Amino acid sequence: MIDPALPQTEPAPVRAEPRQGARPTLVGLSRDRLTAFLEEAGVPEKERRMRLSQLWHWIYVRGAAEFGDMTNVARQLQAQLAEHASLDRPEIVREQVSADGTRKWVLRMPPRGLGDRGAEVECVYIPERDRGTLCVSSQVGCTLNCSFCHTGTQRLVRNLEAWEIVAQVMVARDRLGDYPGKSPPQGAFVPHDGGRFVSNIVFMGMGEPLYNYANVREAIGILTDPQGLQLSRRKVTVSTSGVVPDIGPLGAETSAMLAISLHATNDGLRDELVPINRKYPIAELLEACRTYPGVSNARRITFEYVMLKGVNDSLSEARVLVRMLRGIHAKINLIPFNPWPGTQYECSDWAQIERFSEVIFDAGYASPIRTPRGRDILAACGQLKSDTEKMRARARLMLEEQLALGTE
Ligand code: SAH
Ligand code: SF4
Repeated sequence: MIDPALPQTEPAPVRAEPRQGARPTLVGLSRDRLTAFLEEAGVPEKERRMRLSQLWHWIYVRGAAEFGDMTNVARQLQAQLAEHASLDRPEIVREQVSADGTRKWVLRMPPRGLGDRGAEVECVYIPERDRGTLCVSSQVGCTLNCSFCHTGTQRLVRNLEAWEIVAQVMVARDRLGDYPGKSPPQGAFVPHDGGRFVSNIVFMGMGEPLYNYANVREAIGILTDPQGLQLSRRKVTVSTSGVVPDIGPLGAETSAMLAISLHATNDGLRDELVPINRKYPIAELLEACRTYPGVSNARRITFEYVMLKGVNDSLSEARVLVRMLRGIHAKINLIPFNPWPGTQYECSDWAQIERFSEVIFDAGYASPIRTPRGRDILAACGQLKSDTEKMRARARLMLEEQLALGTE
């Protein structure tokens, strides 16, 4: 279903059975939703606070997959909880491991009604020596149609609920053995610094996070809860194509780090590459960045700039870019374009990317070039698109070929 004006949904009302039929899972729920569940499951009010902190600990600190694992919860209560709910994760449709250690999971969310076979989303784990970054999706597909992005060509679009965003982190931690007393699978590439295997979260998977702001905000609250998943707010980055009205609230309400998909230095080109620019042009976007709550020299805004050969990669554009960002605490991240079948763009030549980067560096900005990771498993930025969608596209293509043959 295409819904071009996908509403910025409020999170589902606080209740505990988001789906019909199967027992709802408690994995990914907020404290408020878990409390509502305990009430519905008949746990007496005076016990609820204590039970909530037990559940919270078992789910988010220990990664419990069964109520039976919760050793300090009485057996009778374990049975009572199991009668009403599960600790299920989304189904892992596929796990792919790249030669460089990057991992991609295709996850299927539980069906939400008759005829729904369950939306598929992708998340990608990028291990480095001193950090493990999980790139999560905030929507199934994206309505924004940036001309160089594969996700934007996907037709099936819906917002993910907060629990579905958190569940991506839970699956990654399950698969990496990122819980006390567990260890990573044989040969897995994980950080060597003694810290958590999933230490950073970037909202750079499928979807525009600020078109699903309320659920993203709720998910960030769960991910950064100091008694639960305990991620640092400075290690959660939300990337937006520029939904200006929600940028200020994002900073004020979540303290997340901000990344802006800039990609062009003038409105004419940006209108074409990132069409939301027609609604919120560059000047408005930069003003929202200047006033982003909590921004400082130590907490800079990342400006992402995809390198498209002959389109936005001239050295004069590099010079305009640094001028434009004057007065903003910024860093610039150059992303080599990741091609996908059918795209009209090419990645800039490596030498040109380096020259572009030098101009930025000489102007005093750090300008790391994002190393493409996981290209062999189509896990790189902008390449994520659900498998169901790819299969449908293949089926359409085959049908078209058959029809063409039939008319010859
Ligand atoms: N919708 C959000 C976040 C998801 S996209 C946004 O647009 O910011 C994450 C990043 O990948 C964005 O900077 C996006 O512009 C970039 N991107 C999309 N397609 C790409 C591609 N084919 N190659 C390289 N980067 C791409
Ligand atoms: Fe959507 Fe971001 Fe892709 Fe644009 S770049 S289509 S906003 S996911």
